[in-house]
Order: sequence, then C-alpha cells, then structure tokens
Amino acid sequence: MTAVSHLTGRPINRFTHIHHDTADLLAKTRMGRLMGARTGCCFQRCVGVDALNALSITTYNLDARRGTAYFQRFNRYLAYVQENDLVCDGAMTDPKGDRSLAPHEQADPDLYLRVIQKRDDGIVVRGAKAHQTGAINSHEIIVLPTVAMKEADRDYAVAFALPADTAGITYIVGRQPSDTRKSEAHAMDVGNLCYGGHEALIVFDDVFVPWERVFLCGEAEFTGELVEKFAAYHRHSYACKVGVGDVLIGAAQLIAEYNGVHRAAHIRDKIIEMNHLNETLFCGSLACAAEGRAEPSGTYSVDTLLANVSKQNVTRFPYEIARLAQDIAGGLLVTLPSAADFHSAEVGPWLKKYFQTRAGDSTENRLRVLRLIENLTLGAAAVGYLTESMHGAGSPQAQRIMIARHADLEAKKRLAKRLCGVPEDETTGRRHEEP
Ligand code: SF4
Ligand code: FE
Repeated sequence: MTAVSHLTGRPINRFTHIHHDTADLLAKTRMGRLMGARTGCCFQRCVGVDALNALSITTYNLDARRGTAYFQRFNRYLAYVQENDLVCDGAMTDPKGDRSLAPHEQADPDLYLRVIQKRDDGIVVRGAKAHQTGAINSHEIIVLPTVAMKEADRDYAVAFALPADTAGITYIVGRQPSDTRKSEAHAMDVGNLCYGGHEALIVFDDVFVPWERVFLCGEAEFTGELVEKFAAYHRHSYACKVGVGDVLIGAAQLIAEYNGVHRAAHIRDKIIEMNHLNETLFCGSLACAAEGRAEPSGTYSVDTLLANVSKQNVTRFPYEIARLAQDIAGGLLVTLPSAADFHSAEVGPWLKKYFQTRAGDSTENRLRVLRLIENLTLGAAAVGYLTESMHGAGSPQAQRIMIARHADLEAKKRLAKRLCGVPEDETTGRRHEEP
C-alpha cells in the first residue's frame, strides 16, 4: 500500500504514486482487489492516482512539443499531494447535453466545463462534472476534459486541480437504492455495516483557478491523449470489483452453508463459476499491468488494448456473479421482513422460529448474510458493484471503440494470408516468404 516517491525519495501512499515499472502497476491491481475485499464497495481512491498518472504523461509531452512548463508545475502539485496523502477526485465526465454535438455546438455552452475568463493570475471556469464517485470525501478535485477535442473547442480543453472546498463549487449528492436504511434504528438492514459509497454532481459556478494549478489550457490537440491515458488507467483500476466479488462469493457460500445446500452439486458448480468469472477479471487487470510500457515522461502506462478488454469483461461478469449469488440465496433475499420486526416482541419470535435452518446456526446470522447479498446485488452497493461496473470508467461501447482502434486487423490479415498462400499485396501478386 506504500511506495517511494520518485520526487522526494520518501515513503508515500501508493494511491498518490506515479508508476515507474510494471511492478508498480501490478501492485496497483492487487491493492485494488484488497481494498474492494475489505470495503465491499467502491473505495474511491484509484480515480485520483489515475488522474495524476495521466497528467504526468500528457504535461510532459505537451511541454516537449509546445515549450510550455506544465510538467514542472504538475510535479510541484504532485509533491504536495504526496506529502499530505491527499484524496483526489478525478473529475472527467461532463453532462454532455446533446451527444451528437461537440462542446462548442451545444445550445447551452456550459454543458461541457469551460474557461470563461483568462486573467494574469489564473483562469475562471464554469460547468459541471457528473457521477463523481467519492467527491464529498475528497480533499482535491482534479478536473480533466471528457472527450478528444478539436481547435473549435479550445475553451473546453482544460485540466486543473482545486481544493474540494473552494468557493463556488457545489456538490449535489445522488440517491442510491435503500439509502434511507442508513438512517434507520437497526443497522442490520443496511447489509454492509462498515462502508458505502456515494456519487455527486459537482457544479463549478464561475470558479477561480490560479495558474499554479492549471495543467492544460486551450491545447485541444492533447485532450485525446489525456482522455485515452486516464481511461486506460481507470479501466485497469476495476480490479476493485474482483475484491467486491470475493465478498459476494463468500456471502453466497455462507448462505448455502446456513441453508444446508452447500454440498449439492449444482450449488458447488455455481460457486466454481462465480470464482472462474471473478478470477478472469483479475487476469485482465494483471495482464494490462504486466504489459505496461514506459512513456517519455518515465511514467509507466498500462497496455491500452488489454485495459479495455479487461473493463469490457467488468461490464458483464459482475452481473452474472450477482445472478448466481441471488440464485443460491433464494427468494428470502427479497421477502425478508425488517430488522425492526425481527427484534419486535410481537412477531420477532415467529421470525426466529420460521426462519431457522440448520440446528446450531443463528437465524440472525443467516439474515445478516442475506442483507449483505441484497446490499451488493440490489441495494446501495449495487450502484458500485453493478451499474458502476457497466458505466464507470466509460460505458461498454467506449471500450469497444478502443478495442477496434487497437486490435491490429491488418497484422492479423497478414498472418492468415501467409499461412494459406494469399499474396501479401493482392494487386502486385507479391507473396510472403513460404514458411
Ligand atoms: Fe475506483 Fe472506480 Fe473501482 Fe470505485 S469503481 S474503486 S472509483 S475503479
Ligand atoms: Fe469510477
């Protein structure tokens, strides 16, 4: 969970570290799984380290091409984040309005976050960032552009960081299923007694950003690279869901044991299937880390194709794992009376009597595990485990576009032609060397 800062040589939280080899990337995969397993929810720190690493790559490349001084400025900010172990929210997703239109073409010009004023001492920005996981418990908000932009969108090509409590920033928290259970008297109905997540819409109502905290301003041609790098890192981060899957598999095995069905062949096979799917997700996250490469800045980036393949699997497998957990849990998962009833003098004894299972097992423990499965597959944590798996770090189609872009079809065609004797260049008839 710790690393050595390449800037100061001091030990730092790995969630503030710039990856300098594939071992760093692999450690990040394992750290994500561990955190997911210990919290059973979206733990919200990886998005900051993904934003920092993407910025380290792009600010360096920008300076090399344009003679600017963003990289040094970024490194001063990074040292501050590392020294103080700050939680950073990586704020990328704009509201986007009409998806068929570019940022500058929108009826309301604020539907993508933009620079409305440049001053000697900094810039003033207006706009919003949606679906911001962990925004309320972050120290810093790091804003990045959400799409690759052309010159006409240069006012929207902006990246910066601000303390989360800066004047002019407002957070509007999203609802989650069963969220009011958290304010009820009996904690048991929440399912996960320890942790949860949240998302927020962040509104920037004409907020001042000093130059010292601006890392891209108007250089539209670098937005594509910044978006692609951040997206690949964040798709790698979805090892978090493997850890949450560990919790759900454990809960499914427990409820099978409490119900006395754990030796049934089909239950054992369903648990095997859940593990197979979960470990396949782990394989993808490890693979894109192991195939990582050094960028000109020295930062290691993950393999883009494999990161997108890995996240594409994440849009599917947790749903199947959740389906199998519900299959094993049985219908009581959604018909279970409340903890208040369970503790009531009037009906509580009946619930204990009629929901008892194996002799010696506590009925209450059985109900607690059911609530955890409900939390993860239908309740507040399903936001993180299921829908965030679908749309977080980009919706499935975003990964398919990247898979299409990075899968080298021409090379694959050449391989096929060589083996079956089709000329490499069919117009000249020139053939490959025979094997
Ligand atoms: Fe991080 Fe996203 Fe996973 Fe949450 S869902 S822990 S923000 S990668
Ligand atoms: Fe996310």
